[in-house]
Amino acid sequence: RADSAMYQAKKSGRNQYRLFTAEIQQAAARVLQLENALRKAWERDQMTLHYQPQVDLGTGQVIGAEALLRWRHPELGQVSPAEFIPVAEDTGLILDLGEWVLRTALQQVRRWQDQGLPPLTVSVNLSPVQFRQPLLPELVQRLIKEAGIAPQLLELELTEGAAMDDPEGAIAIMDRLHDQGIRLLIDDFGTGYSSLSHLKRFQVYKLKIDQSFVRDLSEAAQDQGIVKAIIGMAQALGLRTIAEGVETEGQIEFLRTLGCDEIQGYYYSRPLPAAEFEAYLTRQSTP
Ligand code: C2E
Ligand code: CA
Ligand code: CA
Ligand code: CA
Repeated sequence: RADSAMYQAKKSGRNQYRLFTAEIQQAAARVLQLENALRKAWERDQMTLHYQPQVDLGTGQVIGAEALLRWRHPELGQVSPAEFIPVAEDTGLILDLGEWVLRTALQQVRRWQDQGLPPLTVSVNLSPVQFRQPLLPELVQRLIKEAGIAPQLLELELTEGAAMDDPEGAIAIMDRLHDQGIRLLIDDFGTGYSSLSHLKRFQVYKLKIDQSFVRDLSEAAQDQGIVKAIIGMAQALGLRTIAEGVETEGQIEFLRTLGCDEIQGYYYSRPLPAAEFEAYLTRQSTP
């Protein structure tokens, strides 16, 4: 935010300078406020995870969930992860927070398993900062062991940027995670710069089609072309596909015709607290 304010300040005339200085100060103050609040929230266990169902388009069954962080601050209200994750990354808190997310999500999968629910995968978002930790594979292995679940039930969501920063390094880490049986997917696919030659060497199992291409799928011929191309490419590479941000029946029909494997979005459900997610599953399986 401070960055974009500064960019705008550069773009506009000198007479605008004071105005943008105030904006920059405001943005910087907000970041500082979030930094302090975030650390306290972390120490006081005020973060929770919500789970959004992922549905197999072929069978209509819920086969997994994406774990998404939620933070409600007593005064600031609900703060979006899109705003606080970057702050956590800048301060390094993302390492502790990310480990907590992984542990909590894996323990949740274990509880679902113990409840006798059909096997569910959990997808966890991995920050590039976490991905660059040399001991990440060991950490993940330890947490999976602690939870006592099959490694195949964990999917790690990685953005193209995280992998393309240092493709050779990324390939090595992906290989190690893959050797442990963990599944990797590329998140927000289509918005970054991964080249086909890298994609071929990345040990990924699935591509998540970014919601920006899904949004206007029913109206925009261009987005239809992009989604069609992504699914075609994934199929050629032997990868599964999941579309995120699916809100309408029309979008589902398109994705079905194009051969998309899985769907995630408000059409099925918003991200839910664990107990509500379980209630949702029960409703789905009782006709
Ligand atoms: P993302 O990984 O792309 O997650 C998808 C976002 O789209 C989520 O926003 C989700 O609530 C929202 N969404 C799901 N279905 C729909 C839909 O049908 N329509 C629309 N308009 N939106 C939908 P959320 O939960 O606010 O998360 C924002 C971003 O914050 C995530 O984007 C992810 O990059 C990051 N994030 C969330 N939790 C974590 C985490 O535990 N670790 C890390 N590193 N990042 C996280
Ligand atoms: Ca994601
Ligand atoms: Ca996205
Ligand atoms: Ca993302």
